Amino acid sequence: MKIEDCIADFQIPRYLHYMDSAATSLIPEPVIAAMNEYDRQYRANVGRGMHRLTRVATQKYQDAHDRVSSFIGGNEGTTVFTRNTTEAINMVAAGLDWHSGDRIVTTGAEHHSNLLPWLRLRQEGIEVGIIQPGEAGIFDIEAFEEAITANTKLVAVSHASNVLGTVQSVREIADICKARGAYFLVDGAQSIPHFPVDARRMGCDFLCFSGHKMLGPTGTGILWMRDAVISPLILGGGTVEDVTTEGYTLTGGYKRFEGGTPNISGAIGLAQAVKYLENLGMDAVFRHEQKLTDHLLAGLAGIENVTVHGPENVKNRIGVVSFTIDKIHPHEIAYLLDERAAILVRSGDHCCIPLMRHLGLENGTLRVSLYLYNTLEEVDLLIETIEEIARIA
Ligand code: PMP
Repeated sequence: MKIEDCIADFQIPRYLHYMDSAATSLIPEPVIAAMNEYDRQYRANVGRGMHRLTRVATQKYQDAHDRVSSFIGGNEGTTVFTRNTTEAINMVAAGLDWHSGDRIVTTGAEHHSNLLPWLRLRQEGIEVGIIQPGEAGIFDIEAFEEAITANTKLVAVSHASNVLGTVQSVREIADICKARGAYFLVDGAQSIPHFPVDARRMGCDFLCFSGHKMLGPTGTGILWMRDAVISPLILGGGTVEDVTTEGYTLTGGYKRFEGGTPNISGAIGLAQAVKYLENLGMDAVFRHEQKLTDHLLAGLAGIENVTVHGPENVKNRIGVVSFTIDKIHPHEIAYLLDERAAILVRSGDHCCIPLMRHLGLENGTLRVSLYLYNTLEEVDLLIETIEEIARIA
């Protein structure tokens, strides 16, 4: 299937121009159909019985894990389904065996979901070192060399910024972590949906991302682990091999980490979303977004009063473009874009208050985030409307 042909699968009213995919993406018809099929035709619990429906559901649920694992080159690791990226990161924060004096290294450009779980560990005597980004959100790799000390147990970095669109060279950070014996967690919430990623080649130990940002349903996320070294956050049905009143033996694989009845239709929908992306090809998805982003950046560069925050060319960036217009609040711009042209974008701090402080942007930014269903015509409409708004500002 060609990217241009997929637009019909997204049944949002045609007069709306959705450019907020970094928050959550739209969902195509085949994903909705796969979830409906489960609810209508073979709804049953998974891993819990012998009747025919539970056998079908269990197989589909297992297949969903296999498909997501292979999508990220993670077949040799453990792929756990979670509610979202936030839950996946919190599972690592709660599940590693921390000792007072251990150190965590993260950055000042992280989403709160990849910062708060680490900051909380300070209460347990864990040191948290924060590396600040340079211009356009790019990090100096030497800063990681310096910050990742011998007592560093974990380094947590986002692969692509949800504010600036910058893509980090995670492979280089992974090499440093390996040399110093630190675990490496990558927040892939903004990378996995947008370009091909191979978890093993990237060299991380944990990869966290969200299904709802990659055409899947809300309430779906993933924690991939190279080795399942954490202890599970939740225990109960499905997580054990054997139980007596004295104790229990935990089961292996993803089941150890998915206590209780999971989001079965969500998992099936997520697998269908992955299949959809695979059919298009992640290289093609990335090329399409680059074309749109290039066009948008060129258009914004020509408007007086507009400042783009983040890399100004398409190399090493995704289709997340943050900008401000002099003398007009980002919330007002977002409101006007909706009012005048039915363009839907995000404004504010994007759950990155420390980054906003660091950049001196107390009102935040306006963030456009493009995906495979956006078109050049929509980007033109956006540029024209921004021109009008900048003129009246
Ligand atoms: N990390 C990044 C980089 C994100 O962009 C987001 C979502 N905006 C998250 C983490 C949190 O994702 P979720 O809300 O799905 O947990």
